[in-house]
Amino acid sequence: MSPEETAALLAYAGRLDPRAAQLDPAETSAQLANWCEVLRDVPATAPGGWDAAAAVRRHVATSPYPVLPVDITRPWAAHRRELLARHTDPRPDVDPDDVAGYQDAIRAQRHAVATGQAAPSSARQLTGGPHPAVAARIPPGRALPASAAAALAPYRPARAAREAAAAGGRADALSVPCGWCRAPAGEQCRRRTNAAGDRPGTWTRRRTPHPSRIDDAATRTARGEHAA
Ligand SMILES: [Zn+2]
Repeated sequence: MSPEETAALLAYAGRLDPRAAQLDPAETSAQLANWCEVLRDVPATAPGGWDAAAAVRRHVATSPYPVLPVDITRPWAAHRRELLARHTDPRPDVDPDDVAGYQDAIRAQRHAVATGQAAPSSARQLTGGPHPAVAARIPPGRALPASAAAALAPYRPARAAREAAAAGGRADALSVPCGWCRAPAGEQCRRRTNAAGDRPGTWTRRRTPHPSRIDDAATRTARGEHAA
């Protein structure tokens, strides 16, 4: 903030809160020098809605204490952090083989954002879901087009078995936990390996559920119970 801007801000603060205004000319110039020193690195306005006058107004409106220059530097520090967090270091228009020049350009971009001279450059993000042309090919409730799911079926036997069961109106064995191998609902049945213990790695997944689990699921479905 330039000395002129700081003086204007101090006058504004004195108008809003008479306690901030010094009446003695000597004290006034000391106060202005103090404000100029503390607020040297704080811009008057900056991208993202920063306005030093608004910070003063907010302080006067919410705090019982007279406004001090730190009451402007602290909100600015928070705003600056937010700006820098949104900045994603876009590729500068410098030859990347010129390492020193490239790094200097990146630093200059960050400095411009940190001092409120430039708006942060955020990476564009996907917000609207898949492209309509892609979305049209995906059946509702599925993440994969039917043809892709069919092509993958040999490699996802458990998933394929669940879908086949659902399509055929049979009970989905994986909707219940297995009483035989203690596999939780949703996970495939397990076969012990020779390794000791009960942690993952001491068993492998079975392609097919244990028969008792299939019976269990069929019984529950017949009774109309919801999957556990
Ligand atoms: Zn099992």
